[in-house]
Amino acid sequence: MVPEPITSLIAALTRLPGIGPRSAERIALHLVQADPAAVRQLSEVLLRARDCIRFCEPCGALTEDSPCDICSDGRRDASLVCLVEQAVDVLSLEKSGTFRGKYHVLGGRISPLDGVEPDDLRIAELEQRLAKEPVKELIIALGTDVEGDATGYYLAQRLARPGLKITRIAYGLPAGTGLEFADELTLSRALEGRREMT
Ligand SMILES: [Zn+2]
Repeated sequence: MVPEPITSLIAALTRLPGIGPRSAERIALHLVQADPAAVRQLSEVLLRARDCIRFCEPCGALTEDSPCDICSDGRRDASLVCLVEQAVDVLSLEKSGTFRGKYHVLGGRISPLDGVEPDDLRIAELEQRLAKEPVKELIIALGTDVEGDATGYYLAQRLARPGLKITRIAYGLPAGTGLEFADELTLSRALEGRREMT
């Protein structure tokens, strides 16, 4: 009979992304036998990270301070905005190190079946930025599945305006996956090979 605190811990860990039941069990059994000080430190960094991190108001990326370092970096090319689905995608593209423009996080994709409508996404915020900021090219870098495609086409139509080029990153990304699963080289190439949407 597994003591209740351990089953609760396993259940909580299983709810984390990428942790299956076996891993959750291994981590839980490790933690309940580990140095209490180390476990306390882990719980403190968890809380601190959660308390300090917020969404950047202009772009939607994860940051300690809003606007984030990328939004407030004058050396980055403000005429180039890369539209991604989730905040984690900004981290992936930053790791690839090739993009020198700014970002906008959509916060999801249009998915009527899951009840996600355009109004649920940060599209109005993007329209405000396009009106205020000197954006010349919007790069659509959404996932390569059906919903990602549909969202991209919807946005290309809704956001079209004189003087704005709308491109999408090249395929070559694994089909049906998000940016977070692509390696850095693939991401760089997808970005370099982007094409204009018409
Ligand atoms: Zn930002």
